[in-house]
Parts: sequence; structure tokens; C-alpha cells
Amino acid sequence: MVTLEELGFPGPAPDDGRRPARVASVHAVRVDVWTTAGPVQASLRSRFLRIDGGVAVGDFVLLGATEDVVEEVLPRRTVFLRQAAGDRSEPQAIAANVDRVFVVTSAEDWNLRRLERYLVAIATGGAEAQIVLSKSDLGADVETTDALAPSLVTSAKTGAGLDELRARIPRGMTVAFVGSSGVGKSALVNVLLGRDAQLEGAVRAHDGRGRHTTTRRELFAVPGGGLLIDTPGMRELKPWLPGGEVDDAFDDVASHAARCRYRDCAHESEPGCAVREAVAAGDLAPERLEAWRKLARERSTQVDKSKQRTATLALRKRLREKGN
Ligand code: GDP
Ligand code: ZN
Repeated sequence: MVTLEELGFPGPAPDDGRRPARVASVHAVRVDVWTTAGPVQASLRSRFLRIDGGVAVGDFVLLGATEDVVEEVLPRRTVFLRQAAGDRSEPQAIAANVDRVFVVTSAEDWNLRRLERYLVAIATGGAEAQIVLSKSDLGADVETTDALAPSLVTSAKTGAGLDELRARIPRGMTVAFVGSSGVGKSALVNVLLGRDAQLEGAVRAHDGRGRHTTTRRELFAVPGGGLLIDTPGMRELKPWLPGGEVDDAFDDVASHAARCRYRDCAHESEPGCAVREAVAAGDLAPERLEAWRKLARERSTQVDKSKQRTATLALRKRLREKGN
């Protein structure tokens, strides 16, 4: 059993009997969720299928008091979006309410541009990004570690850096692991979770033929730590960024920004800003930086809006609680 706090649920349970829950995996018209009373399989109303890239792993929901139906999807604190498959440009939510996203990249095969796309997509959704260099036993050269400025250098094989990684997933926090196929993400996640570390009580579904089937879960509890989202679908990730092909359009700024001293550099007055240096040296047109800043401001407004919604919701809950 888990507590609301362990689920990361924002605020107390509503007092109208509706049950707080967290989405562990998403299927076409139903979701597997965790409640404080254990796992539940709940159906989704069609109006929830179209919200903000769809219901995602990590979403907080309210189930009906008696029926296993999702009645409300709570506003997200953060969201990680990718472009949905197909021709139309629309977002698909991969993970919601994640505090920290570990971008796993291997010492033997890394690509700065790909990393930048992850970092921008993560920052756009409001979560904190941390680069984790994997397979350090294969030898991480100085140029690689300098270029990537990883927050952690790890090896699932030797165990290097794993205690530090674990320490960055404290109780109450929700993290996600992303990375291209083959970087060693599964190896890291498996070590973190341990063999039998998945939350007890698999979500069991009673299917139409009367058999019990254990469904795939994507939300896990790290023993002694927080929650971990591992989504296989992230393998072919195409980050969704507001404004369409913004990432491609700002490749030039991003290529300089990768050398800024601070990863979240706003290229305003930070020391060691490689973007302003590039402008000063004539390597980057000042208009490009200005355009990027404009976009960055738009992005932060979007993030603030979602924070505002969360705050409003928490307040509404507290008032509701007091009033009754
Ligand atoms: P994923 O696709 O990112 O989940 O990658 P996997 O975890 O499946 O690993 C891909 C390959 O890298 C496998 O052959 C693993 O055995 C290997 N691998 C994973 N972690 C390490 C590591 O720390 N060191 C070494 N040398 N190989 C690793
Ligand atoms: Zn900068």
C-alpha cells in the first residue's frame, strides 16, 4: 500500500468520497492507477482522451467514489511531451508530474544535438533535466565529459555512480528516465529497482474471457526512494516543442548554448555565457539571440500558467476542506 504522500499527490484527498489516484500505465480507453487502497483499473471518459496530449503515466486523477471511472484529471505540475506519431503535428504526453528527468547517454555513442532536443523538451515541460553518462567502464574521455557536462557518470556494470543516482531519487520525488535505445537505460533502471522491486501487487485485470492478466506498468517505486517512470515508447522520441519546428530553427543558438557555464543559462548576464560570446565574436547574429529570448519568454509564460493552475487547484482543495 502507498500513502498519498508517496504517490506525490498534491494536497489532501477530496472529502466527497472520490478517490485520489496516480496513473501507472495508459491503454486505449482505460488506465491502471495506484490508489492508497492498491492498484485499480479504471475506465476513461472520452473527453479525457484529448486533453493536453492525452492522459499520461504520472497523471493525478480522481476516481469516482464507487465506480472505477476517472472523473477528473488534475492539472499537471510538469509534463514531458513528444510529437505524436503520424503526419499531423500534435503533442503526446509521455509522462506527467515528473520532477526530474534523467537523460541517459552512453560514453561510446553520444550526439549533442539529440541531447539538446531532450533538454529543451524537458525544460519546456517544467521538469529538471540531468544528463547521466552511462557505461563509464567503457571509458569516458575528457572531451566527452567536458562537452556533455553530465551531472553523473555511471556504469551499471561496475556500479560506479549508482549510489549518487539513487540519492537523486529521494522519497516523494518522481523521476523519469529517457534516452535513445541502446544507451543502457534499462540496465540502470533495473539496478535501481532491483529484481523484485516493482511495487507489490501487480495491476491485475479481469479480461473478457475471465482470465487474469498482468498488465505492463511504467510507474515504479524505487526501494527506499521515490517513484520512477520508464516508458519504452520514449525510445523513438521526437520532442514536441511549442511553435512547431522551433528546435530545428534554433539549432545555431543551441550549439553555442551547450558551452554555456550554466545549463539553464538565459544568455542574459550569466558569467561564462557562450552564446553572448558567440555574438560578440560575430559567430552568431544578434537577431538570432533576440528571437531565441522571445521564444524563451513565451515558454516560461506557459510553464508559469500550469504552475498557476496547480496552485489554484491546491487552494481550492484547502478551501473545500475548511468549508466542510
Ligand atoms: P537501453 O536500450 O537503453 O535500455 O539499453 P540496455 O540497458 O538494454 O543496454 C544496451 C547494451 O549496453 C546491452 O548490451 C547492455 O549489456 C550494455 N550495457 C548497459 N549498461 C552497461 C554498462 O554500464 N557498461 C557496459 N559495458 N555495457 C552496458
Ligand atoms: Zn548563455
